[in-house]
Amino acid sequence: MPILEAEVQKSFKPLTKRLDNVKLIYYLRYESVRLQTQDGSASTIHAKYNLKSILKKKKPSRSSLVKRLDSEFSKYIRQRFAVRGKARCFTCGKIDHWKNLQCGHFQSRKHYSTRWNPQNCQVQCVKCNIFRQGEQFIFGKELDKKYGIGTAKELHLESLKTVKLSNVDLQEQIKYYKDLNKTL
Ligand SMILES: [Zn+2]
Repeated sequence: MPILEAEVQKSFKPLTKRLDNVKLIYYLRYESVRLQTQDGSASTIHAKYNLKSILKKKKPSRSSLVKRLDSEFSKYIRQRFAVRGKARCFTCGKIDHWKNLQCGHFQSRKHYSTRWNPQNCQVQCVKCNIFRQGEQFIFGKELDKKYGIGTAKELHLESLKTVKLSNVDLQEQIKYYKDLNKTL
């Protein structure tokens, strides 16, 4: 029978699967061909072929990048001067395993210009960092002792600046500290 008309319909059926921050999308491609013949009979052929898998990376959110950078940076700060895993609280001198200590900020974390500044951030015990609100006065004096007079003031002025880190900047910083932490 001669074919009068062939109607091709394409449809895609996406199947999604989530793995961590990666979204996998599989497309199953169906093609159906409807054949209309001279005698009026019609038939539909369904052809399932071409299993296509598309790996699509979900863009990480800004807050998740900030969180990841905080985490890698904190590991660096707590381990950088540690001796056999033990680090010293910058403001009271308490010695403990770096995992029990925290990354304290001289100028608050709310200031992004100094949030990941290796001078602004030092190891602190929970008592100093949380219960004594960071011991900012002692923190400042110790900074001047360690890095030179005027350091605390400079960090304060630096904290007032407005900086806008792009997501790419954040990703680069995450990689930098991640790699650095592997060497510690
Ligand atoms: Zn302390």
